[in-house]
Amino acid sequence: MIKNRKMASPFGEEKDHFFMQKALAQAQKAFDKDEVPIGAIVVDALGNIIARGHNLVEKRDTQLAHAEAIALERAGKKIGDWRLEGCWIYVTLEPCSMCMSLIELSRLHGVVFGAHSPLFGYRLDKELSLRVYKKSAVRVIEGVCAEETIHLLKQFFKDKRKKKSE
Ligand SMILES: [Zn+2]
Repeated sequence: MIKNRKMASPFGEEKDHFFMQKALAQAQKAFDKDEVPIGAIVVDALGNIIARGHNLVEKRDTQLAHAEAIALERAGKKIGDWRLEGCWIYVTLEPCSMCMSLIELSRLHGVVFGAHSPLFGYRLDKELSLRVYKKSAVRVIEGVCAEETIHLLKQFFKDKRKKKSE
């Protein structure tokens, strides 16, 4: 995995911000459905949004319904190929290891994520490198619109706690 701290995708910094806003809109959709607010979008090599997804774990009763997994499945269906070569995924929170493996297996070019996930992030607190393929060339860019993701997550869990104590 090639890591690019505080750098931009080939689409540029401005576009990264734009796409992350679209992912955040998906996260808001999850929020409105009482799901942990995480959203993702898949962009093709030309910079067209080809799929969107938001967390639906509670609704579907499965961990397979992570925002990234849903967006990747939809992207594959949209282009009629599971090989999402040249595509990028934008996700509001650092992917878990299941989704990161899915991203590698789906042959995406790169991942742009917002905030770090101290609980379920694919790196956890170690610099864990996944070995789905012998050679992995997935680029990772982090920290895009991270504050907005954190704000939304905090709001969600605050509301949850409030509901619990009521
Ligand atoms: Zn995941």
